[in-house]
Amino acid sequence: MVSRGKDKISQWGKRNTMNKALELQKLKEVMENDKKLPLISKPTDIIPGDGNPDSEIVFIGEAGGYHESIQRKPFVGNAGMLLNQLLRSINLPRENVYITNMVKTRPPENRDPLPKELDAFSRYLDQELEIINPKAVVTLGRFSMGKFLPSARITTVHGKPHEVNWKGKSLLVVPMFHPAAALRNGEVLYKIKEDFLKLPEILSEYKRKKEEKKVEIVQEKLI
Ligand code: URA
Repeated sequence: MVSRGKDKISQWGKRNTMNKALELQKLKEVMENDKKLPLISKPTDIIPGDGNPDSEIVFIGEAGGYHESIQRKPFVGNAGMLLNQLLRSINLPRENVYITNMVKTRPPENRDPLPKELDAFSRYLDQELEIINPKAVVTLGRFSMGKFLPSARITTVHGKPHEVNWKGKSLLVVPMFHPAAALRNGEVLYKIKEDFLKLPEILSEYKRKKEEKKVEIVQEKLI
């Protein structure tokens, strides 16, 4: 279930893949029935996150487009094809990761999401992240980057790891350009390809540092 209060505490640390999948399904149903959400006139307007609920890494885009709204899956149009290609370039099959959007519907004529729309969907993304509990988030484009790194500029921070304190826990955030921007601009395409190739090393370095910290803490307790 989508946990709150006492339930949240009792379920903490007990989530397995099946629980996570069920919780995500429940979350989808809550969104589908949330009459206060903008850009939704029927339950099937919701484009839920997709992929492996056990993934250590979550990719977050902006909002769905035409193809996403038909298939009800994020990143299945042209930008999605590029994302799949980028994932393949680092031997990370799409099915192994979790992919979602800031706004889980399609804005009219694919316009940028409005602040009030980002705001309305924000708590659902928070719950998704709480269920999946990833080690790292890759933000695709400026809207998802803004959630974790509000004062960052994509042109300077792209492809660089940032450790943030997210709801009391350490989370690695790696901002990337949006794949749709890369399709429009050859220079951005070159950069996003380069940034993706750095991702495996960034992740293993982060995990190695975390493990070292754990060992240090255990050793300190033993002394
Ligand atoms: N497709 C998505 O699902 N999200 C985006 O941000 C762009 C295309």
